[in-house]
Amino acid sequence: MNPLSSTIELVPAVVPAPDQLPIFEELTAPPPRPVRPHLRLQPPLLADLTPRQRKAVTYGDGPLLIVAGAGTGKTTVLTRRIAWLIAEKQARPSEILALTFTEKAAAEMQERVDRLVPYGYMDSVISTFHAFGDRLLREHALEAGLSDRSTVLSRPEQVIFVRERLFELPLDRYRPLGDPTRFLGALATLFSRARDEDLTPSAYEAAARELAEDAAVSDEAALKEEAAQQAELAAAYVAYERLMRVADRIDFGDQVGLALRLLRDHPAILAEERDRYRYILVDEFQDTNHAQFELVKLLAGGPSANVTVVGDDDQSIYRFRGAALSNILGFRAAYPRAASVVLTENFRSRQTILDAAHRLIGHNNPERLEAREGIDKRLRAKSAFRRPEPVGGAIELLGFATGSDEADAIAERIAASIHDGRPAGDHAVLVRGNRDADPFLRSLNMRRIPWRFSGMAGLYQQPEVRVLVSFLRAVADPTDSVSCYDLATSEIFGLAAEEVTRALNAASRRRMSLEAALREASAHPETAPFGRRALDVVQRLLASIDRHRSMSSERTTGELLYHFMTSSGWIGRLTREADETGDERVQNVARFFEIVRRQSALLRDDRLPFLVEQLDTLIGAGDDPSTAEVDLDSGDAVHVLTYHRAKGLEFPVVFMVGLVEDRFPSRDRRDALALPASLVRDAPADGDHHLAEERRLFYVGMTRAAEELVLSWAVDYGGGRARRMSQFVHEALDLPPATPTAALRPSAIERLARNERAAEPARTAGPQPVPRLGDRQLTLSFGQINDYLECPARYRYAHMIRIPTPASHQMAYGRALHAAVQGFHRRQMRNEPMSLDDLYTELDANWESVGFLTREHEEARRRAARDALARFWQEQQTDPARPAAVEQEFAVVLGRDRVRGRYDRVDVDVDGRVSITDYKSSDVRDPATAARRARESLQLGIYALAWERQHGKSPDELSLHFLESGLVGRSDATDRRLDRAQARVASVGEGIRAGNFEATPAANRCGFCPFREICPDAVR
Ligand code: SF4
Repeated sequence: MNPLSSTIELVPAVVPAPDQLPIFEELTAPPPRPVRPHLRLQPPLLADLTPRQRKAVTYGDGPLLIVAGAGTGKTTVLTRRIAWLIAEKQARPSEILALTFTEKAAAEMQERVDRLVPYGYMDSVISTFHAFGDRLLREHALEAGLSDRSTVLSRPEQVIFVRERLFELPLDRYRPLGDPTRFLGALATLFSRARDEDLTPSAYEAAARELAEDAAVSDEAALKEEAAQQAELAAAYVAYERLMRVADRIDFGDQVGLALRLLRDHPAILAEERDRYRYILVDEFQDTNHAQFELVKLLAGGPSANVTVVGDDDQSIYRFRGAALSNILGFRAAYPRAASVVLTENFRSRQTILDAAHRLIGHNNPERLEAREGIDKRLRAKSAFRRPEPVGGAIELLGFATGSDEADAIAERIAASIHDGRPAGDHAVLVRGNRDADPFLRSLNMRRIPWRFSGMAGLYQQPEVRVLVSFLRAVADPTDSVSCYDLATSEIFGLAAEEVTRALNAASRRRMSLEAALREASAHPETAPFGRRALDVVQRLLASIDRHRSMSSERTTGELLYHFMTSSGWIGRLTREADETGDERVQNVARFFEIVRRQSALLRDDRLPFLVEQLDTLIGAGDDPSTAEVDLDSGDAVHVLTYHRAKGLEFPVVFMVGLVEDRFPSRDRRDALALPASLVRDAPADGDHHLAEERRLFYVGMTRAAEELVLSWAVDYGGGRARRMSQFVHEALDLPPATPTAALRPSAIERLARNERAAEPARTAGPQPVPRLGDRQLTLSFGQINDYLECPARYRYAHMIRIPTPASHQMAYGRALHAAVQGFHRRQMRNEPMSLDDLYTELDANWESVGFLTREHEEARRRAARDALARFWQEQQTDPARPAAVEQEFAVVLGRDRVRGRYDRVDVDVDGRVSITDYKSSDVRDPATAARRARESLQLGIYALAWERQHGKSPDELSLHFLESGLVGRSDATDRRLDRAQARVASVGEGIRAGNFEATPAANRCGFCPFREICPDAVR
């Protein structure tokens, strides 16, 4: 019996919906049933299509490229084509394979096809590339060299996998002992890129060898450097692959890469799969990477294969994830006889908006299908709108003096529009990065306009998730003061920063952890440094910590978290809030629970300390999951979202904000580690690929708007430099290069209206007011000065609130090395020579086992310290100089403030020439860098200034001695340098007195900041 008809007998009769095709009637041959004449004559799946859509849907056999511009009904065409192929008996449902990218997109496509094809008869494969590859690998695990229990690692788990085996990888420069995980995330990304490029370890090794051969016969230092780097990376990739196979793990890239290898190496399996699928359809083809397209080509067969791809080169915005624009631009090279259908009828936007978007994207020519294929991709508006086009046109450009003016004005516009009868959810504010959303959210808050934020990343930074991470850390580790501070000042407990500082100040022992300080305050209420309310909060907080700490040995971390949320009453508050403004925050919390659940499942022991360690690794390695998905149907709130999140969505009114150079287009942030250029198939052609990708992103933003599009920018976003309007605005609106800023400022009435501010609702415990210090003289160390100059917010956390931070392995290493060297010099000054063994003993006595990654890391670090000391000792044996002072403290008044510090070493030679040396444990390996660091050192400048104040004369030489390499960088104490140092000290004092603690985030700065997990401004 036909297996299909036997299945059908078991299924109750299905009454098709009006827009469904009764295909089962036609596929189950006997007994014939009367076919509904109206469906045969006018099938509903074609009735409402445009001629071009119809052509695409009903195209016969052979390769087909459907170029579907924004808002032209791409998904409709794809799903109707699947239904049409089935209805016309071109293929059985099971002979159709539709591939897309996300589970969500696959589910949506499945749902739409299900509506067209009755349930129970739709056994086509609609799947993501990864799920499809995974299915292949599991069905043929033996041939693929995998077991049937292979575990798939998500990106964060891949990072953890690499971290756990970091010392098994043949790394040197990419595993610096002072910061062994510095390249962890970059290595994982590189391995993924290699997978995207369908690159085997042996191919990578071969390319690295070739590069080395070229370098060997070249004088170019850069080439030699690159060859050495690539040799190390290729060896690491080989080792990574071996370790993955030994551990029976596969990563996301493997799901496609190993599937490809399986099909290539086993012709019988390939033939079987080719027989299985007669039609292959690919959605969002512009987002495929090289390996994915290879898989499609292999499965589909020759150049006349039945492969339909749908995409829009102008909406390709995932290059950073490996998408190869060359796939869609080069489709015809792979399939020379491919037909193409271009969909240009747009069912979303006004013509003015479409024209401007087209003008903009034309600047990407000739790297576009329109230019390459000579087709017309101009979109034509087909929608009718209830509201007439605004008098000034559907696009408006607004310029402002400052970023806060801009945020206020946009919020005001939205308020007026809501007042005018539009629902809040009709408005979208598009931001380039998560942080750019903050001022707009604040301004919306002030007007009590509900909003929902959705970003491509940043889940851990959302206050509702951050507090849960801090809760887990604080319960797991009583000495984690940073997390304890975050929890105490969170919206759940609401302690003020000054109260925390007072508790720390009053604590009997210095450097006491915050938890210990709070316990001391709680134990002695009569002498507690704060009032009754704060004391209550502290007691509640400590009780909660105690309770959950005692539960943590028996309960899973998920249970612990849930108990915390319910017992604190916070879950109730979140739920009530969700009823009013949408459940975005609840969804974020749910996402975090999902992460905890998944990580728990990966651990042998999922109790708190292990789970926290796992989470720390994830976060430390740069894992930054996206926040809740945009849900257009939940609650009525303004959508604030990133451009990547907006793709595929539409809104009646769209605000594209912050449109200035360096923000949009953003600066090019390339991968920290790159494959050799010879291995990248989608190699940049002429032109700036980053700029082109940013332009496509801008295009995606513009084409989200249906009725009104507002473009806005400001001259001043802080940072002391005037910003220029984005070149994309010029291109889209065809403006002359110099647009007068003054003409774009908001009107005086707008400015006045902005003074009528509503009070900000207490949505979260945000930044708290900082007391000003008046005229008080400050005493500052170099460390404090440096912290303030690096980031005033960091200074505030570290020196005003005084959140204690744990010692890091870098500090432990540096302190031990310093102590040994100082011990040597002290003995030297007493004329008591010190043997090398004594020097090692001094090192061991000062060695603290804190913060090291693994035992191997600590041992490697200790070996490095001994090597450095051996070199130092050897050098000292032949150096006649004897220091005049070691570790000498000073305190001098510089301008309005006092500066204190300690000279590591002072030498005075026979001619009275003074030299000040500071020892460094950082890794500097070339003399030029050592000299530059000495020249630019503010620390040495301040020491010289202090010496001059103390002795009336500047020192003659200022040096940095790098202990790891033995290099010494020397510099002079010029008047200019001293003046600059003085000015910088003065600016720090003034800044602190003025209460200016605005964060100055930067990726390299925040990466080493001990407060990055609680700092809302941290860059990750
Ligand atoms: S994380 Fe970055 S922005 Fe925040 S305090 Fe630290 S350095 Fe400043």
